[in-house]
Amino acid sequence: MKLILLGPPGAGKGTQATRLVEKFGIPQLSTGDMLRAAVKAGTAVGLKAKAVMESGGLVSDEIVIGIIKDRIKEADAAKGFILDGFPRTVAQAEALTKLLADEKMKLDAVVELKVDEKALMARIENRARETVAAGGTVRADDNPESFKIRLDAYREQTAPVSAYYAGIGELKTVDGMAPIDEVTKAINRALAG
Ligand code: AMP
Repeated sequence: MKLILLGPPGAGKGTQATRLVEKFGIPQLSTGDMLRAAVKAGTAVGLKAKAVMESGGLVSDEIVIGIIKDRIKEADAAKGFILDGFPRTVAQAEALTKLLADEKMKLDAVVELKVDEKALMARIENRARETVAAGGTVRADDNPESFKIRLDAYREQTAPVSAYYAGIGELKTVDGMAPIDEVTKAINRALAG
């Protein structure tokens, strides 16, 4: 199963990806997680990405395409993967199409979680609260200022990615406002259909 999860920040992609990982036994490839790891490790990519990530902007296409190109060739991705947070621009989507063709891989589905934008700020505040309650560290970009920029980036640069996949007939849309279990069921139905 090779799958892309699309949706704005706070839509629940991470939560649903975790469930899909369990169901299909395939890895979740989150460019956000990989970039945060690079920042933490202080690699060259991390040093380039840190400030733009904290502000809520998008890291360059070149960097994230390079990361994904290497990652999908790793052994654990041979059976499939869930892309979470990638592609985020049409240029990334086009690069992915080429990358998959080069690797003789085929996408099974692109699932978009549709969420009411007004609900997202509340979700992100909740995520920060829950992280603190669990003794964790809140993401540097989970604050109202960065979140607004992340939403703007989504609207301007990532929303056209849905249109790209709709245009090639691969997009399935799921109501991301439903309770978490309902969203999971809807995704499973979309994948079966
Ligand atoms: P996420 O964890 O998916 O919300 O990603 C956190 C941050 O990492 C984003 O706000 C961007 O700064 C950066 N990032 C993650 N994935 C990408 C991507 N595919 N393209 C550009 N920037 C990305």
